[in-house]
Amino acid sequence: MSHPAFELVRDETIAEINSQARLYRHRKTGAEVLSLVNDDENKVFGITFKTPPEDSTGIAHILEHSVLCGSRKYPVKKPFVELLKGSMHTFLNAMTFPDKTAYPVASQNLKDFYNLVDVYLDAVLFPLISEDTFEQEGWHYELESLDAPLVYKGVVFNEMKGVYSSPDSVMHTLSQNALYPDITYGKSSGGDPKVIPELTYEQFKRFHQTYYHPSNARVVFAGDDAPDKRLEILDGYFSQFERNAVDAEVKLQPRWNAPRQVSGTYAGTIDDEKRRDGMVSVNWMLDPPENRDEMLSHGMLSYLLAGNPAAPLRKKLTESGLGEGMIGGGIASHLRQPMGSFGLKGADPADAGKIENLVLDGLAEIAETGFSAEQIEAAINTFEFNLREQNTGAYPRGMSYMFNALGTWLHGGDPLAPLRFETALAALKDKAGQGHFEKEIRRLFLDNPHRVTATLEADPEQGAREAKAEADKLAHVRAELSEADRRAVLERTERLKALQESVDKPEDLAKIPTLTLADLDRDIRTVPTEESRVGGVRTLYHDLPTLGILYLDVGFDLHVLDKDLLPYLPLFGRALLQTGTGKEDFVSLTQRIGRTTGGIAQHRALATRQDGTGTAAWFFLSGKAVPDRFGDMLGIFNDVLLDARLDNRERFRQMALEEKAGFEARLVPSGNAIVDTRIKAGLTEAGWIAEQMSGVSYGLFLKDLVKRIDSDWEGVEATLRRIRDRLFNRGRMVINLTADGALWPRARGELAGFAGGLPDAAHADADWRHDFAPKNEGLVIPAQVNYVGKGANLKALGFALSAASAVALRLLNTTYLWDKVRVQGGAYGGSSRFDLSSGNFAFLSYRDPNLLKTLDAYDGAAKALRAEIGETDLVRSVIGVVGDLDRPEFVDAKGYSAMWRILNGTTDKLRQQRRDEILGTSRADFLALAEAIEAVAAEGHVVVLGGEAATNAANEQRPGLLAVSKAV
Ligand SMILES: [Zn+2]
Repeated sequence: MSHPAFELVRDETIAEINSQARLYRHRKTGAEVLSLVNDDENKVFGITFKTPPEDSTGIAHILEHSVLCGSRKYPVKKPFVELLKGSMHTFLNAMTFPDKTAYPVASQNLKDFYNLVDVYLDAVLFPLISEDTFEQEGWHYELESLDAPLVYKGVVFNEMKGVYSSPDSVMHTLSQNALYPDITYGKSSGGDPKVIPELTYEQFKRFHQTYYHPSNARVVFAGDDAPDKRLEILDGYFSQFERNAVDAEVKLQPRWNAPRQVSGTYAGTIDDEKRRDGMVSVNWMLDPPENRDEMLSHGMLSYLLAGNPAAPLRKKLTESGLGEGMIGGGIASHLRQPMGSFGLKGADPADAGKIENLVLDGLAEIAETGFSAEQIEAAINTFEFNLREQNTGAYPRGMSYMFNALGTWLHGGDPLAPLRFETALAALKDKAGQGHFEKEIRRLFLDNPHRVTATLEADPEQGAREAKAEADKLAHVRAELSEADRRAVLERTERLKALQESVDKPEDLAKIPTLTLADLDRDIRTVPTEESRVGGVRTLYHDLPTLGILYLDVGFDLHVLDKDLLPYLPLFGRALLQTGTGKEDFVSLTQRIGRTTGGIAQHRALATRQDGTGTAAWFFLSGKAVPDRFGDMLGIFNDVLLDARLDNRERFRQMALEEKAGFEARLVPSGNAIVDTRIKAGLTEAGWIAEQMSGVSYGLFLKDLVKRIDSDWEGVEATLRRIRDRLFNRGRMVINLTADGALWPRARGELAGFAGGLPDAAHADADWRHDFAPKNEGLVIPAQVNYVGKGANLKALGFALSAASAVALRLLNTTYLWDKVRVQGGAYGGSSRFDLSSGNFAFLSYRDPNLLKTLDAYDGAAKALRAEIGETDLVRSVIGVVGDLDRPEFVDAKGYSAMWRILNGTTDKLRQQRRDEILGTSRADFLALAEAIEAVAAEGHVVVLGGEAATNAANEQRPGLLAVSKAV
């Protein structure tokens, strides 16, 4: 259990996470290693460096991108993309935080895991980081010709332009920077596009030398891989370094004696109807938590104040009528001195004083009256359930351990403390009823003068003004250049492009370690499913080890609803859980859910059925509980399904406003999803419904609904009742339960009672025919970036592709589209998606400075697919696709996925057939996809979400290309 190069500092069992935790120090360099040994086959490795930036040039962020672009042992253009393409990773990424940069990987396959670890270690410690890479990933000047205007290009430069187009991000940066003006948290670690061009290559190189050193590293391993091997791998790298004194400490922000104010603007239009485009928040800097008790207390206090719709401070803010939705919402613990924040978006900036008072008076009032026993019980049960369940969803558990440990470890604290919770939980249970949280509200907020009230306002001129300032600055730079200088820029531009288009040498590419096809499982993974009728309802049961928890999904077939009812569903679903019931108001209901269950949620699922017979469209209510509470949970299900207060106009109005604000906030960060949804709306029925419930049509629906709640509430309420009366009946229902076998007999009896209490009506399918025709559209948003899409239905165009097309698609995404749209085009991302069942195909770009150029790249994709494919590329792409298929699921997700496959007609036989097709991919499959994509180029339709100037410019160059309208 040891290695001579490492000193064992701690060796402890941590029962809470079922792990043996060993903390080591590398004798030569001082590198610290946390080795967590447990039985999780989803193995995690991560190396993290403290990287506090001194300015807003985005230096840490650009470096994060750049080290993954070639290293000493792996001298290819993009080892990261090779891994993305051809490994079985369950996680593979890198992230820049305000004070650290983390490089985590995860895999269930041991050989694959070691490959990932080696490529990552070599990348961070021995990157090539050439000047070309710096220019490509960071920023550089570009000239298309000697007479052309000078422009900025760079992946991070564009990425951050996108970030700065999102009002929520602007608000977050504004508040954080103002709260910590004297330390690193006062800078933008991602990079401010106005400041990024100040960064030089020399500074960039020096930043790497300073911080990317074992002496400044914190390494985590977690999972079932051999612990000694971990140390051996690390010493292989670390022993090549000498100890280095790295000063990377995150200084403490000195405290203030009096609160401050800060205001800012973002590029956005002002709604003429009402000035509701601002945001206001009250923010505090807190002291670093002293121990685990205090960390848990911070989390629970956030939950008590604002963590659920019934929480008193959230309720006060949303019911005030001063804004459309809450922002902040508690204590963010990832900073050394944590930040507490509460506020409203969709607010009038002139109300800043009122909102500030609302927060302060609200906190004072809560501290005075105190939390009720029910509120505290609900908070404790919710936290206890989550801590014991450790359901990290699709995210590897080991990574959540890693980030928890880093919270203290990075600043010289005990990395093991955040992994334990029993003692802290017990202590908090004792203190909670004795005024602990009320005292904390005073200490952390009311008596804490280190506070900033931040106000953000829309400025309709800002976009044009900033674009002009950038153009002027570039014109100024250009005017200073001699012809020889310009020629040099032009040559560099061309050289960079040529470099980007060049291909890696096969012998270099072969250095990236990879699995072979023989390492892959031939067979699909199946989930045990027992089908029966319980209380007259179709019931699926999955016997899986759930550690004593019952996971329940109850589904209702949406086909009974008329098509004009569909857009109401997202809000209808929320109304069930958030309006109260006939016997209790929504505060009491929310507390009952918190006290008795591990959570209840609702969602909708849509897919084209595999056999082409239409759409699987369902509404689900899902919940989890321990056996003794399962009956109580079913009682709650029954109450909300049959007796929710759909007449609660005030709650419904607040939810509609929140939903509308949420939709608008999603437009920029998730523009590619909006475009994808819009394209598919014209292709299939499932696509059309999805757009009605989440796309641009839904945004317009919400805008109208908010008005109708005031002008025609009776009509709205009657509609909600109609949905309930038709939807909730036994005839078109499914029950899905995932739990340990021993829990099934009793649960079955309880479920029969529940199902028997629901109405039984035989409604026929409604007519969902609609007249939404696909067209070429330009949807305008106030942003400096575009989301460019083009798509078609390949089945409708006459193509019948095999599952192997996914392999060709993967290669297209990781080579041609990556190069053309991201590397050369400067977009943050560009890819294509294809759904075998529906036949829907779409190209999509993300935070894209271009429009027509991107469309041209899409139209050239077929040609790229026809090019010669190397054997390595083919095999890697197969491995990548199989890796996606075998992605680990938490036990509740396994049960849910098995049910969803049954509902949409995906049999295990079909899954096996598809897996076989993927494993047997050949060049013919690439050619088949090429042919289909050629048809997309010719017949597909274009949807662009983007800036007005870019949209108009595209229409000027290609008259009539896009029908332009406002997205909101
Ligand atoms: Zn980035």
